[in-house]
Amino acid sequence: MTVDISDIEAILAKQEDWRQRQCINLIASENTPSPAVRRVQHSDFMGRYAEGHPNEGERINRYYQGTRYIDEIERMARDEICELFGAKQADVRPISGNAANTAIALGFLRGGDTIVVNSTDAGGHISHGAVGVFGRRIQTRGQSLKVGGPQSINLHYLPLTEDRYHVDAQKTIELIDRVNPQIVVMGKSLFLFPEPVAEVAAFCKTRDIPVLYDGAHVLGLIAGGQFQSPLQEGATWMTGSTHKTFPGPQRGVILANMDEETAKKYWPPADRGVFPGSSSNHHLFSLPALLVATREMKRYGREYAAQIVRNAQALGQALDELGTPVEAREFGYTRSHMIAVNVANWGGGVEVARRLEANDIIVNYNMLPGDADPRNPSGLRIGVQEMTRFGMDERAMGELAQLIHDAIRGKQVREAVHQLRARYLEMRYV
Ligand SMILES: *Cc1c(COP(=O)(O)O)cnc(C)c1O
Repeated sequence: MTVDISDIEAILAKQEDWRQRQCINLIASENTPSPAVRRVQHSDFMGRYAEGHPNEGERINRYYQGTRYIDEIERMARDEICELFGAKQADVRPISGNAANTAIALGFLRGGDTIVVNSTDAGGHISHGAVGVFGRRIQTRGQSLKVGGPQSINLHYLPLTEDRYHVDAQKTIELIDRVNPQIVVMGKSLFLFPEPVAEVAAFCKTRDIPVLYDGAHVLGLIAGGQFQSPLQEGATWMTGSTHKTFPGPQRGVILANMDEETAKKYWPPADRGVFPGSSSNHHLFSLPALLVATREMKRYGREYAAQIVRNAQALGQALDELGTPVEAREFGYTRSHMIAVNVANWGGGVEVARRLEANDIIVNYNMLPGDADPRNPSGLRIGVQEMTRFGMDERAMGELAQLIHDAIRGKQVREAVHQLRARYLEMRYV
């Protein structure tokens, strides 16, 4: 070896030990992929290029030679993910969820267009908003990114019901009717309950307005049939990250279930939005890993996703019963993998998230509906998908709730956290 990398390897070993064996990780956008998913990423594909689509028989779709094996993998990844989601079209090349959304924006939006998205304080992803890919895409020169003022971009927020955790379908239809957007974007990052896709998409269909469902967070729950089925409910496309509740490598995907006529209009611009739009080299080393994760989800996804939702609800109930307020109690806290906890009384989200990290419980602070200052959010977002994979069940959620409850109030629970984690080290559902 000509360069010394022992210090780098030492850091990796520390990360592995800390995050895989000591921490209780509750970041809602993360997961640990299976040993097989990790293993297949160390391959020759790491150094290769394969732009375009797989060659099909005599038909040349690639811009590079030497792609015969990645062609096989890419065809399988495309076909098998279509099967898993009941989709007719899939693009497996986006290198992340944001790259998948960027492809749609590049394909279908121009400066001066109008869109409807979730606002960030209602849980929307920052990339949907004014400064993200959608807002930037519809901005014209001289236009302000501020929403609602004079000269502002034509960005509108999905209206919410009074509890602020559900999109108001009727008001959304009225808004769409009034502003006539080019695209409606549903789905978000603080994502507790399904979106009213069926109602909104049915109306959009009468106006030929496409609906993008951003399933970044909930893709694994959808694969397991436990949240909602956006494509079957009428969404034009579903994008997603393949590393959140879907426990694969860090990549993205675009899925659709269009008949031939619709596909002629709504697929080719998305395809060009991916390449040459938002990706060229699509990180070939991780595509076999996506295929592995797709097979794992086909076999175990239903069972895994159902346990995730049961665990999230159990954790919400246990925390709430202990006296740590959990949002959306009147709706059973959640129907997804995450809950939102209000910690305004104990110093706010930023302070409490740091207190939890000091005890090796890893969460992120989050704005709750009605919060005005993103730097002083009152909430925590807590996701159970990763600990569920390591075998935690409703009973373990009860123990975990006590530790979180105590740590929020400044009690030292680090040793107890390590003891609980040590009982759940073996990966399930693989
Ligand atoms: C996480 C997230 C994204 C971004 O996905 P990446 O895979 O990190 O690029 C996009 N949309 C939503 C709603 C998300 O939560």
